[in-house]
Amino acid sequence: MTANGEPQGNPLEKSQENSGDKSKEKQSKTQIVVVGGGAGGLELVRRLGDRFGRDDYDIILVERNRTHIWKPLLHEVAAGSLDANMDEVGYGGHGVRWGYRFFYGTFAGIDREKRLVHTAPLKDEDGREIIAAHAIRYDYLVLAVGGVSNDFGIPGVLEHALFLEDRTQADHFRSKLLNACLRVTHNVAQGQTDSMVRIAIVGAGATGIELAAELYNAAHALRHYGLEVFDETRLKVTILEAGPRILPALPEKLAEAAAAELEALGVEILTDTIVEEVQPFAVKMKDGKTIPAELTLWAAGVKGPDYLASLDGLEADPANRLVVRASLQTTRDDRIFAIGDCCAYTPENAERPIPPRAQAAHQMANQVFENIVCITEGRPLKDFVYNDRGSLVALSRFSTVGSLMGNLIGGRMAIEGRLARIAYTSLYRMHLIAIHGWIKGLALILVGHVNRIVRPKLKLH
Ligand SMILES: Cc1cc2nc3c(=O)[nH]c(=O)nc-3n(C[C@H](O)[C@H](O)[C@H](O)COP(=O)(O)OP(=O)(O)OC[C@H]3O[C@@H](n4cnc5c(N)ncnc54)[C@H](O)[C@@H]3O)c2cc1C
Repeated sequence: MTANGEPQGNPLEKSQENSGDKSKEKQSKTQIVVVGGGAGGLELVRRLGDRFGRDDYDIILVERNRTHIWKPLLHEVAAGSLDANMDEVGYGGHGVRWGYRFFYGTFAGIDREKRLVHTAPLKDEDGREIIAAHAIRYDYLVLAVGGVSNDFGIPGVLEHALFLEDRTQADHFRSKLLNACLRVTHNVAQGQTDSMVRIAIVGAGATGIELAAELYNAAHALRHYGLEVFDETRLKVTILEAGPRILPALPEKLAEAAAAELEALGVEILTDTIVEEVQPFAVKMKDGKTIPAELTLWAAGVKGPDYLASLDGLEADPANRLVVRASLQTTRDDRIFAIGDCCAYTPENAERPIPPRAQAAHQMANQVFENIVCITEGRPLKDFVYNDRGSLVALSRFSTVGSLMGNLIGGRMAIEGRLARIAYTSLYRMHLIAIHGWIKGLALILVGHVNRIVRPKLKLH
């Protein structure tokens, strides 16, 4: 293809490289490989598989986990108010249903000349290899590996802070939280009546704010689960933010409303506060002060994984995100697309790349699907146009705030309360429908409602 995305020669020309597949039939198929089955990647393989998977194409998803959980639910998993087992999607079964192949493995690099994706050997918990290193041939490749937390090189973050990047980390946080609550209960029984669980959350974006509210919701419920002396008064959450206010993506009025709600719950918010070091049980600030923290959650920003900075000559920005053009093809390789948190797309006349959000990953997945269809039909590729639908932040059961944007309402509209809650939950519902189709998606939404009534409010293991 040419730089502007026009197909050059036969766009469906087959790669001659060996993919490790034994059958000749598979060798002759056009392989579209998607790496990363998250908010964007899973929606994309579902659409590609549904459209092409049973024809002369091989759609392959490379993913390092066996199951998918939508990332914006992770703060609920971490606080124990959502049982991830109920909401996760197994890639194997999903692939069979929608016509793509799931390859369980960790992406390790690419060879652009040979058009190969390399995966690292996979080992079990005993260190024994269960899947060898593989090289998978691609004709078209979509990188959708998401982002990682940016520690900004601050000492102690990687060693002592916790993160919310995937299910394992969310489960780890919950386990440490429960142990801390049990320890306080024990301390109180031993006569240490002022014992508390102190949690520091670094970063006052949506992730940090939503987690803070969710923790108070969980603490309130704990006394009904056998921790009689524990309730929200034994929890002290401090949010540390380098900027002048919380929720910079939301209008100031809504951020103030959210701050007031959090402070009423007992959250302490320290703005203009720069973290200098994270220690095993404390956070040290630049002004010399130190706050004690049994758990420190780092939610101070997102960057691309380090390996994207030098991925076989592809262009990356200073935050390790692959730079893409309006077609969402990488700037130096027409056969490679990148979507979601791992890409940097700056629309014309915009100052900054599109923010790392689930709605951006969703829209980019749809655009890449359309563009791959264009390639197969020999049509020119279309430009991606980001449709900012606004931002919503849920403060657990206490409140939801946000702003909606769109043609329908003619600009930005601040919303709070029930309407905001409905808009917030509809984001996840749209994801369910995007990955399961209408019938199963709607059935799962119904099951979700029933589960909320019949299942325990907290997951305590
Ligand atoms: C707690 C939390 C709350 C959030 N709330 C919101 C919200 O309310 N609204 C909103 O719009 N956004 C929210 N976000 C941001 C949103 O989740 C992301 O922008 C979105 O998930 C990005 O989608 P993605 O497909 O780019 O990446 P992800 O959804 O992160 O998916 C990446 C996938 O790639 C896989 N992967 C990564 N590396 C490899 C590798 N080397 N090999 C194989 N597979 C790999 C991962 O396992 C994962 O499945 C939130 C994020 C968090 C953490």
